[in-house]
Amino acid sequence: MTQASAYAAQGATTPLAPARIERREPGPTDVRIDIAFCGVCHSDVHTVRSEWPGTSYPVVPGHEIVGRVSAVGGKVKGFKPGDLAGVGCLVDSCRTCASCGEGLEQYCENGMVLTYNSPDRHLGGMTYGGYSSHIVVDEAFVLRMPASLDLAASAPLLCAGITTYSPLREWGAGPGKRVGVVGLGGLGHMGVKLARAMGAEVVLFTTSPGKVADAKRLGATEAVVSSDREAMKGAGKLDFILDTVAAPHDLDAYLELLRRDGTLCLVGAPERPHPSPGVFNLIFQRRRLAGSLIGGLPETQEMLDFCGEHGIVSDIELIPMSAINTAYDRMVRSDVRYRFVIDMGTLGG
Ligand SMILES: [Zn+2]
Ligand SMILES: [Zn+2]
Repeated sequence: MTQASAYAAQGATTPLAPARIERREPGPTDVRIDIAFCGVCHSDVHTVRSEWPGTSYPVVPGHEIVGRVSAVGGKVKGFKPGDLAGVGCLVDSCRTCASCGEGLEQYCENGMVLTYNSPDRHLGGMTYGGYSSHIVVDEAFVLRMPASLDLAASAPLLCAGITTYSPLREWGAGPGKRVGVVGLGGLGHMGVKLARAMGAEVVLFTTSPGKVADAKRLGATEAVVSSDREAMKGAGKLDFILDTVAAPHDLDAYLELLRRDGTLCLVGAPERPHPSPGVFNLIFQRRRLAGSLIGGLPETQEMLDFCGEHGIVSDIELIPMSAINTAYDRMVRSDVRYRFVIDMGTLGG
């Protein structure tokens, strides 16, 4: 085992603070990555503050990890020291169930291993995430980062990017399709960029009039303030709506905008449920209400390659590790455009 520097929370009400954690030595199929940057996801805050069930302390969050390979096991084929590498939300799965067989490890029927706060099959205890100096991950769960992209700004692709890319692909965002994106935050701004790059016409829905201009800069054809009932009526029909908002809200307002056979897909995870939508909005026009969780390893690599080809990264604010607690408070207030990324060079020993 080796020691790693990290930032950990020791309880739901204590701030993140420096800590030492243990990492395994690389096994035959493992890759050790020295972490250069780690994105800050809403899931990190929910987990640290125990707003979702099941946080085990100490917790080291972070699942938007990029850096350089510093060691590999003897059987590793795809990586060598010095390579750029990324790790997202998953570090293992059963690899034998039907979902794993289809490259949909995020839906593993025997339980995936999350990058943090998940039982660690190697060391016991829980997995520790990317707010740390290095990480050791089986090569099957390590991604190749496009060299053409700014490394810090590409970190959020590993959660925010794939969370929006996967449903956009699943429901056919592309030329000739009108796609709605609800919410312009860490997820929503990636949804707008990706749907536009796929060739769809994008309509962004926001509660903040101040984000309308930004939505258009990011690639939306139209931006609608969702509290404006007339503007909502005038939004026209949509083939697919990606709802990224992680707070309970009225889903009927969006179901009504779908064409026949259209789908409203939820990717935000609110602490309390949304009010149940009216059944008639589903029955009439055969509409669907769906959900989607991150993406599997093959699709995450496909997304990274797509972003490399199209020059897509996240809009980020780079912060030192010591600013993380302030960043959490600001993120909860939606005071970030659009993703914090930690410069792990500031972690210290
Ligand atoms: Zn995340
Ligand atoms: Zn499985």
